[in-house]
Amino acid sequence: MSQGEPRIVIIGAGPTGLGAGYRLQELGHEDWVILEANDYVGGLATSFTDEAGFTYDIGGHVMFSHYDYYDELVSKLMGDDFTELQREAWVWMEDRFIPYPFQNNIRDLDPQTVFDCVSGLIQTQRQEHQPTNFREWVDAVMGPGIARHFMIPYNFKVWATPAELMNFVWIGERVSVVDAETILRNVILGEDQVSWGPNNTFRYPLRGGTGFLYDGMRRFVEDHLELETPVASVDPAAKEVRTADGRVWPYDVLLSTMPLNHLIGCTESVPDAVRRAVDGLHWSGSHIVGVGIDRQADTTKNWIYFPEPEVPFYRVTYLSNYSPYITPRPGQTLLLTETSQSTHKPEDPTTIVDRVIDGLVATGLMEEDDRQRVVTTWLCSPEMSYPVPSVTRDASLGTIQPWLRSQGIWSRGRFGAWLYEIGNMDHSAMQGVEFVNQVLFGDPESVWIARGEGVAGDGIR
Ligand SMILES: Cc1cc2nc3c(=O)[nH]c(=O)nc-3n(C[C@H](O)[C@H](O)[C@H](O)COP(=O)(O)OP(=O)(O)OC[C@H]3O[C@@H](n4cnc5c(N)ncnc54)[C@H](O)[C@@H]3O)c2cc1C
Repeated sequence: MSQGEPRIVIIGAGPTGLGAGYRLQELGHEDWVILEANDYVGGLATSFTDEAGFTYDIGGHVMFSHYDYYDELVSKLMGDDFTELQREAWVWMEDRFIPYPFQNNIRDLDPQTVFDCVSGLIQTQRQEHQPTNFREWVDAVMGPGIARHFMIPYNFKVWATPAELMNFVWIGERVSVVDAETILRNVILGEDQVSWGPNNTFRYPLRGGTGFLYDGMRRFVEDHLELETPVASVDPAAKEVRTADGRVWPYDVLLSTMPLNHLIGCTESVPDAVRRAVDGLHWSGSHIVGVGIDRQADTTKNWIYFPEPEVPFYRVTYLSNYSPYITPRPGQTLLLTETSQSTHKPEDPTTIVDRVIDGLVATGLMEEDDRQRVVTTWLCSPEMSYPVPSVTRDASLGTIQPWLRSQGIWSRGRFGAWLYEIGNMDHSAMQGVEFVNQVLFGDPESVWIARGEGVAGDGIR
């Protein structure tokens, strides 16, 4: 460590790196830099506007914040320029829409499906279970009927990973668990339980999509920002980062938000056990397809889940319902679809746009005639979009993260921490903020979770 202010190097200008940079400028810290590979900020939370004037996010990005600091920052960035939406989520299966969450609203499905789901739930409540993976957890908590009709096919479509290979520590607030009484009320008394209501609203920037927020953070970090500066290697012994242009950036403390496997891959003198542990980290990629249609949307829905394997996407967002400025002209629609991919679930990028349009027609989101009204399409295929909570993940993190910390390196953010359960924008930005608070004041982190064994260490002052 040098005397005085620590020199802080930040890899990546996504929400995590920007959160750290924002906090550093707020505190008046001088000695820091953000190194970003792209020529723009925002990472996976960036938005793009195409030549036709439609604005796309990299998949539906909904802001449900858990933190006052992040809320205040978002309010400061958006001012009055936002829309406020009521979350309206649906599931489309068996040729019909049912309100989300599926498991509490099964009454409108085929009688055989309803019977399978209810009898499976009764069966499972009679047994003791000790699940060891996500597949067993679904069976144990929801029963084989709900598992077969919804949870297993849907989750395979999202994660592009068999449920047997996933853990279930990430579930927390991410999966609505079933309650037998709610299901019986739904089926017998005909009461729906929808996920939207007065407390389920979210804000969305009026212009520029989700990425508006991170573009807005740029002005606070501009003087310390190096765009088009990919990091090529890290030397923890010398405490230096080398960028692809040959420049060397000494640091006292390093915050890396690049994917953890890439960080280990480009770091020198990594112990064998740490290098091997990277094999336990799994991820999926995506094809995000936007379809701009010259027709008014005929629904107020926000997004729809699609569990059935023959439908090529797992989710469609009516992005044009989020803000009138998402489309160049009033009376147009922008549908944003998400399709996952991995070695378990390869997807042909050359046919995905056509398959998505066919799927939109097959599910009734587009009329046959709408094919003629498509004014633009957009494809974005991030190679890494979901850090999969695999059964091997926590042991890997428990080996990798303590070693990095012993070298003065914090790896945080969606793929830096590799923790889906804290991988949203608010979690990510706050991991950046809390990194700074820990380094400068010794404050413990509250967002980041030390998964796996033996993670230790105080803040470096
Ligand atoms: C399909 C999808 C849907 C999502 N939906 C939601 C949602 O509904 N709500 C929500 O809150 N969040 C959502 N998210 C998550 C959100 O995008 C992330 O929380 C956020 O982008 C993570 O920020 P980050 O800074 O940790 O990582 P990233 O956004 O991945 O940023 C990392 C940055 O590091 C840079 N980088 C990588 N390697 C290097 C290198 N070698 N040198 C220099 N720079 C490098 C990258 O270019 C990038 O800019 C979604 C994400 C996806 C993919």
